[in-house]
Formats: sequence, C-alpha cells, structure tokens
Amino acid sequence: MVDVHCHLNLHAFDNDYDEVAKRAFEAGVRIIVNTGTSIPSSRRAVELAHKYDSPAGEMYAIVGVHPHHADKADVEFEGEIQSDWFKKLSELAKDKKVIGIGETGLDYHVYESNGIVDKKLQLDAFRKQIELSIKLGLPLQIHNRQAGEDIVRILSEYQARLQDPPGMFHCFAGTFEVLSNALDLGFYIGFDGNVTYKGIAKGETVLLSELAKATPLKRILVETDAPFLTPMPLRGKRNEPKNVIIVGEYLAKLYGVGFSEFEEATHRNFETLFRIKI
Ligand SMILES: [Zn+2]
Ligand SMILES: [Zn+2]
Repeated sequence: MVDVHCHLNLHAFDNDYDEVAKRAFEAGVRIIVNTGTSIPSSRRAVELAHKYDSPAGEMYAIVGVHPHHADKADVEFEGEIQSDWFKKLSELAKDKKVIGIGETGLDYHVYESNGIVDKKLQLDAFRKQIELSIKLGLPLQIHNRQAGEDIVRILSEYQARLQDPPGMFHCFAGTFEVLSNALDLGFYIGFDGNVTYKGIAKGETVLLSELAKATPLKRILVETDAPFLTPMPLRGKRNEPKNVIIVGEYLAKLYGVGFSEFEEATHRNFETLFRIKI
C-alpha cells in the first residue's frame, strides 16, 4: 500500500518516527508520503524523505502551507518567522524527493481554538500554491473542509494550466456534486480512517462511505493523515501509516474487490498521479 498523506513530520512523531516508519514497511506499506502544513513541517517532510530510499521502504514529501496556517505569514510559528514563506516554499519544492504541492486549499470549519482563518488570506495562499504547482509541474494535494464549492470554482479558473492529472483532494468529504466536479476536473480522491466511522461528521451531509463508493476505482487513493483520523477499531489511539492497510481493506470490501486487486489499483493510481515508477 501507499500512504499518500500523513504527517510523520509533525511533533507527535518526534521521538519514534523511525520505529513507526519501519512498522509500516514491515506490515507491507511500500511508500509513505509526508505532507507539510507550514514551512517548518514542510522542511521536516523533505528531511525525512531523504532518510528512506529503498524499494522496501520509500518516502516522499509534499510541501505546502495549510489554509489553517495561512494567517501566520509574518509571525513566529514553530520556532521560525514565516515571512517570505512563498520564497521558502518555492525553494523546498525543488528538492528531488518532493512530488507535490500541499496541503493547500480552503478550510471553513469553525475550530474551537481559533475559529476560521481570514478567508482572504486562505485564498491568497491557495492561489499562490496553485501557481507554484503549475510553474514547477507538480500535482496539488488539496485540503478541503466545508469549502468544496469555492475550491472547485477556483480550480476551474486554472483548469487549462493545471497539471495533467492536476492533483488529488486529500481526506475527501463534501457533497456528490463537489465529488463529481472534482472528478471532472481530473482530480484523484483520497480517503482516510474516518471512512470507517459510523454516522456523518458534524458540518457534513453525506456519509463518507457513500462518497467512496461513488469514486471510480481508477481515481481513488488511500491515506491515513496520521497522527489523526485513526480507523476503527483503533480509534482513540494515535494513528500511524501502518493503518493505511486497515483503510485499504475496508475500502476494498466496500468496492467488492479483493484486497490485492485494490492494492494494485491504488498503487497504479499513485504512480500515475505523481509520475513515479516503483
Ligand atoms: Zn488536511
Ligand atoms: Zn493532513
């Protein structure tokens, strides 16, 4: 399996990222992709990617500034002033182990800690990263929380200039309409451990498993978003990339195909989207 979106680059894994990575590789995960959410965590994702480089256990990085951190442009965050973030990101993105730009997008969820980040700042950061994806020829990894209509509308503006394929929506949630618009634009669709949860998440209207079933097998990708979104029956514990297998098994059943067929299909999807051959 490939875990196309997780965060061994976050502090939750500072003490044991190596054991966690090895556990995943031993369990049958062949590729781990760590995604940045800020400049420091993007830099860390690149650093980690260079530590693992074998067919039995490969790591790549996706670098970007999360919409939730779009307001940190000129303040200190994780020990680093974020000014010139776009210049720093453009430099990081040129590394040979960087395969995409993200996570970037829009997030309209009202968080208890800090509400919604100024939508103008989110939009500005999103547009800059779309331009970077076009300039460097790297696909996008989109973060969408309750902002699917706006994201689709903005991506449509760039349609003629986006990469082919243009990228993926990570941790998909939303309506059937947003899903079909994303698919029409050529995007791949990622699902995580929360697809195994019962019921519809707050602020959403469609069950994730229904959205997964509506996604063609040739467009689906599997991810963990570790340390978040631990699949059932492990929910409550810290998530880790090894659990992408649990998510994959769940989705294979949902599609009514054998696990190895599903694994092969999603691996091919990963290679096609990120232009990688392993
Ligand atoms: Zn996200
Ligand atoms: Zn994430």
